[in-house]
Amino acid sequence: MIITPKEKTNEEVKIAGRYVCPTCQAQTTTSKVEIGWVSCPMIGGENICVGCCIDFQVVANSESFENHPDFAEFLEVANKYRKLPSKLRIICLNHQIELCENFLKDKGPKYISNKKVEEFLTYLLNLRLEIMSD
Ligand SMILES: [Zn+2]
Repeated sequence: MIITPKEKTNEEVKIAGRYVCPTCQAQTTTSKVEIGWVSCPMIGGENICVGCCIDFQVVANSESFENHPDFAEFLEVANKYRKLPSKLRIICLNHQIELCENFLKDKGPKYISNKKVEEFLTYLLNLRLEIMSD
């Protein structure tokens, strides 16, 4: 399961002109399609495209984190922002936990069932505990 923050439109993000996703350098606010932008706490709250958000979450949530096929992408961001991948992973997990908790507090649209989110939240909490006690 994936739970993403509330998305912003191209228009909302490009206030300061053309904006390029800082993590993939591919998506831009001048795209004709709505990319979907989210604020990412791994990089200090900067906006990233929702595609990157999902990719990072999948790696962060994987039990085989450093062996995940997309770990290189994660590492690239960590290097760019001079942070340890393990540190970024915790930031990502904390953010997802917060999103789940907010969802369960009835914030935002109900596009998934509470039960699914509760199960996902339990998974994330256990994973975080596992990582922290390593
Ligand atoms: Zn991106």
